[in-house]
Amino acid sequence: MNYQELANLIFPDAKDISYYEAKYPERNLPEGAIVTRFAPSPTGFVHIGSLCQALVARTVAKRTGGVFFLRVEDTDQKREVENGVTGIVKSLQEFDMAPDEGQIGENEEIGNYGPYKQSLRKEIYQSYAKYMLSIGKAYPCFATPEELEEMRAKQEAAKVRTGYYGVWAKYRNLSIEEAAEKIKAGVPYIIRFKSPGREDRKIKHKDIIKGNVDFPENDQDIVIIKADGLPTYHFAHAVDDHLMHTTHVIRADEWLSSVPLHLQLFQEMGFKPPKYAHISPIMKNDNGNKRKLSKRKDPEAAVNYYTELGIPNLAVKEYLLNIANSNFENWRKQNKDASIDEFDFQLNKMSVSGALFDMVKLLDVSKIVISKYTAEEVYEKAIEWAKVYDKELANLLEKNKEYSLKVLGIERGNEKPRKDIAKWSDLKENINYMYDEKFEKIKHNYELQKINDKEKIKKILNTYAEKYFNIQDDKQVWFDKLKDLAEEFGYAREVKEYKENPDKYEAHVGDVSTVIRIAVTGRANTPDLYAIMQVLGKDTVLKRLNSFA
Ligand code: GLU
Repeated sequence: MNYQELANLIFPDAKDISYYEAKYPERNLPEGAIVTRFAPSPTGFVHIGSLCQALVARTVAKRTGGVFFLRVEDTDQKREVENGVTGIVKSLQEFDMAPDEGQIGENEEIGNYGPYKQSLRKEIYQSYAKYMLSIGKAYPCFATPEELEEMRAKQEAAKVRTGYYGVWAKYRNLSIEEAAEKIKAGVPYIIRFKSPGREDRKIKHKDIIKGNVDFPENDQDIVIIKADGLPTYHFAHAVDDHLMHTTHVIRADEWLSSVPLHLQLFQEMGFKPPKYAHISPIMKNDNGNKRKLSKRKDPEAAVNYYTELGIPNLAVKEYLLNIANSNFENWRKQNKDASIDEFDFQLNKMSVSGALFDMVKLLDVSKIVISKYTAEEVYEKAIEWAKVYDKELANLLEKNKEYSLKVLGIERGNEKPRKDIAKWSDLKENINYMYDEKFEKIKHNYELQKINDKEKIKKILNTYAEKYFNIQDDKQVWFDKLKDLAEEFGYAREVKEYKENPDKYEAHVGDVSTVIRIAVTGRANTPDLYAIMQVLGKDTVLKRLNSFA
């Protein structure tokens, strides 16, 4: 009996690999095009770190005219959750990061290199495993769980590396005949890779992000096909990224230590290996300790968290690019209005150690992103969010669209747009005073202000309403009138004047406008008061000035 016959015995129906080699030819792409993938397990959950990896993978593929695809790695069926693919596909869509190829729904996919769901590729893996058996580079292993346990205990007692390798690899040198006999007798088995490696030899690997790294060679006879007939991650990675013609494997750095094994698998199967870029995890400062953002402990680890808060997806992506490429921030300063797609993302400029996640910085980025939206964009995006997360806000905005657009247009589209909104969940609080039904419930707080005498306030408001306020005034006239009002009450016309003679005046024009601002909006800080009054209109402003009691 020879290897080929043993392979036929194990996988009688598996096709010759030449079939798949022909079925998935080289991709027809421009010179230098990069092919990348996002390869999550279908747990339904997308970690912010995974989103960052997907963003990086997609960005480099797009910039080079390449392909970014989504492959679902569901070979570990214990980890599966129902509709786990849908959640991932949805998150990518929400972040405008839909793949060019691959899974686009629970059971739908696009592209010529599929299936893109590993559980549907069983036959393909078996063909390649058969090929490895046929050339003597894989073998059936009959070790029982008890045998493996015993081996492990012995290794631990002897203080040597654990695993299935070298002299410990009990079934590695079983004769073909013995193996065939066991198989025919129905003894359960799995398929292992016959590693040619030696632990005392080193390999050099040049990782695009981590740089040069040295590792001992792999000498573990890892499992390639499990008892359920499905491949392990390692084997599937080699077969899939070969057949799908991935040029750059961009993944979490927890896989860096598997590189010796992966390179060996590619080598032994006769495949050209991809380039590797191992991304560091996003870290969190936990009371002075730096640790990975954890799915279990940190709500901000889940991408849904940002969606729920109403942080625009563009802001999240922009922030991730910020932490991914340290020169992004500078580029952004010089290219304030450019699309993030124009940024020349460089994989080799990614940081070798994990970046610290900074919510304050993310919110700052988000404020800038939102400040650049037109009133229409704010309206559309805020409503889309509010329909799911805040019906009251959705109703408020929709009740009078034209008016809402004016409200949202205050201090927007100009040189220095307002930057007070970081997320859609902040919006209601920031605009509710523009709507009478909400304004009535707002508590007017004058107590902390410089002018806080009730009678004085009443008088200022009455005088302003009767003598000075005219909705037709342009901004200059409007402001001059506030100064006149200040002067009439013995306050300084100019802030400067007040500062020069602080003993001479009780307050200045700014304090007078605060009185009016609070009466009109209920708040001491708002965007441009003139613009607010223009949008509210004459009747509403007068009503609010006169209703102070
Ligand atoms: N399914 C693997 C994971 O979720 C993918 C790693 C890779 O990108 O190759 O960790």
